[in-house]
This record gives sequence, C-alpha cells and structure tokens, in this order.
Amino acid sequence: MVVAVGLHKYFGNFHALDEVSLEIQHGEVLCIIGPSGSGKSTLLRCINQLERIDSGAVWIDDELVGFRQEGDKLYELNDAEIARQRLSSGMVFQRFNLFAHMTVLENIIEGPVIVQKRAKSAVIPEALALLERVGLKDKQHAYPSELSGGQQQRIAIARALAMKPKLMLFDEPTSALDPELVSEVLAVMRDLANSGMTMIVVTHELGFAREVAHRVVFMDQGRIIETGPPQQVLNNPQEKRTRDFIAAVL
Ligand code: ATP
Ligand code: MG
Repeated sequence: MVVAVGLHKYFGNFHALDEVSLEIQHGEVLCIIGPSGSGKSTLLRCINQLERIDSGAVWIDDELVGFRQEGDKLYELNDAEIARQRLSSGMVFQRFNLFAHMTVLENIIEGPVIVQKRAKSAVIPEALALLERVGLKDKQHAYPSELSGGQQQRIAIARALAMKPKLMLFDEPTSALDPELVSEVLAVMRDLANSGMTMIVVTHELGFAREVAHRVVFMDQGRIIETGPPQQVLNNPQEKRTRDFIAAVL
C-alpha cells in the first residue's frame, strides 16, 4: 500500500530524514514514536507531499509519488498533478485546522464539493453518516469555535474521511488536547482502524499504540532505529535508544 525506500530529507545542512525505508500493507496500522525532532512529522509530510524528499522514492498503491513515468523517463509532477495525488491520503494534524467561518457540515462537504466537484446532494448524506460515525451528528450546524478540542479533532477526522482517502495520516492528533478529551478522539481512531483503514499514526499515546498498532516504528535523529510488533518495540525493545525513550515516556 505504502512503500518508502531510502528517503533523505535535508533542511539546509540539517539531515532530517536519513535513509528511511518503510512498508505498510493494506489495512495495517503503523504507529511512529520517537523523541521531539526525530523526523516523525517530516516523514508524514514527505509521504503526503507537503515536503519534497531530496532522494529516495515513495509509492502509494503502486503509484510513484511526485513523478510520472513515461517509458524509462521520470518527469516531476506539476502542482496540479501533485494536488490530485495528495488526495489519496487524508491527514489530521496536532492543531485543529477546521475553517472557522464554516459550520461543521460545510467543513466536511467543502473538499468533496469544491475539490472533487461532486454534487452536494450526494455528498451531504455521506457527510451526515460520517458525523454519525464520529458521534457528532447533532453538531452539524455548529461552528468550530462552539466545539471542544476533542470534538473539533473528531470533525477534522470526518472531514479527511469525506474525501475517501486510501490512507490516513495522523500527526499527534491528541497531543494538543486536554487529557479528558484524548480518549474520545482515540476511540474514533480505533473504530477507523477496526474498519480496515490503512493508517500511519505519529503518537505519544503508547497505550493506543500497544492496543491498536500492528507495527510500531521508533525513530531517532532522522533514522528508523527499530520496528516490530508493539509487544516487541514497546515491551521488549532490542535497542538501547528505544528502551531509554520508552522509559522516559512512561
Ligand atoms: P515533534 O515530536 O516535536 O513533533 P518530530 O519528530 O515531528 O518532532 P520533525 O518536525 O519532523 O520532528 O522535525 C525534525 C527536525 O527537522 C527538527 O530538528 C526540526 O527542527 C527540523 N525541521 C522540520 N521542519 C523544518 C523546516 N521547515 N525547516 C527547517 N528545519 C525543519
Ligand atoms: Mg512532529
């Protein structure tokens, strides 16, 4: 489903991703953990083409990200082609990024109607079903400012799902929330995982990773240090750096 091979990313002289390779199967949930500055967000942003990689390659569903192949030549995609390709993955960020001047329902149908040019009459029932799924159908006419952080994050998830992505990327979706609001967002993510969605989740919620992830990746200093099932990486890490990190987080 997602294959990343030998990714390198520099910010000036700073080596933010150093030979990162990753493979994710259809329906797999991968959690990425690691200290601040280890390159977790950068990796997600490269997969989603919010950042350009300096070398290496990413495929999503056998489609090479950022390039078009003609014969044995590769051509870089233009902005419109990149925008189209980016629709295959939905991304949810740490900070809620809802449109403040739109209601919940308007936020959710915006992408399908404006970007995908689908008929409102077809999109609205789907949006309501998504709101039902995240437990917020009664908030369809509310504005983001009238919602709690946890509710806004659940709407952000519904909004990403409205575009029918093949893959969902989460970048610490609960770390800006008050502690009592974390579990409602994790519950929505757990349901999504159980429905078979392919997900990459950057998180400090080791409990969630232990329970929901099929595999956990530990990153440090731009590299993947260790990867394996949660019982291994979280309970019996092979690498000292992983052990130190987990001891510090717990
Ligand atoms: P955190 O847990 O704090 O979110 P992270 O693992 O997500 O950390 P990244 O945001 O991927 O870390 O950043 C990795 C490194 O790259 C950091 O040292 C950061 O300062 C640097 N970096 C990230 N984005 C940029 C940028 N646009 N310009 C310059 N440096 C950047
Ligand atoms: Mg980050």
